[in-house]
Amino acid sequence: MTYEGVLTKMETEFADPIQYYLVFENSFLNLNQLLNKELEITFQGYQCLNCGKKKKIFRQGFCYDCFMSSAAAGDWIMRPELSTAHLDIEDRDLEYEKKVQLQPHIVYLALSSEVKVGVTRKTQVPTRWIDQGAIQAVPIVEVPNRYLAGITEVALKNHFADKTNWQKMLKNEIPNVDLLSERNRLQNLLPEEVQPYFAANPDKTYDLHYPVLQYPKKVSSLNLDKTPNFNGRLTGVKGQYLIFEDGTVFNVRTFEGYVVKINLS
Ligand SMILES: [Zn+2]
Repeated sequence: MTYEGVLTKMETEFADPIQYYLVFENSFLNLNQLLNKELEITFQGYQCLNCGKKKKIFRQGFCYDCFMSSAAAGDWIMRPELSTAHLDIEDRDLEYEKKVQLQPHIVYLALSSEVKVGVTRKTQVPTRWIDQGAIQAVPIVEVPNRYLAGITEVALKNHFADKTNWQKMLKNEIPNVDLLSERNRLQNLLPEEVQPYFAANPDKTYDLHYPVLQYPKKVSSLNLDKTPNFNGRLTGVKGQYLIFEDGTVFNVRTFEGYVVKINLS
């Protein structure tokens, strides 16, 4: 069977274990069903997720021109504290920015490689945590806009990591931490204007179980630009990574906008 299309980040379903789907224009693959099977990935070309042109991908699935101009790639995406829609100030497209920024956001602690702090739109719970490969997560506060979430994250970054160590995440080298007690001792670190949103008890913690038959001892990442053809036995999916028997890992998200052919033998 051969599947072909533009890579976009895997769709997920919060189940036990988490279900993963590669969705193409006219077909999709449930990766859970491909565990222990041989998969061949072949790079075919580029297709920008924004303009659809066959231009080299620069970042986040966008070609350079789209990345520099699209409202969906403003600096406030990666740095929520730079959000200004709540002040009626435009970055690239105020209407778009209002729609995305002026909605409930969650600041959370997640356990992926160590305890990390992060921000997500409430609609992205628990998808965001699945994408990071967290095994557990707990909300800290729910705030009404992205700016408040951003300044909260900045305040907490001095005390927690804000990046995942992807090698440790994929090797499942995770410390034993009580996330709830970490959360409950950080209230006094929150910015003044966010304090009212802190509830003594969070709604719940989330436990996430990934479809992995065997965690690799060593990992090396597949780069489609350097290795346009790869063949391997799929042994797991975690975060946005495919894990293969030989320790090769493929970060689907990094290759958004790449056109690939996937062959199942
Ligand atoms: Zn483009």
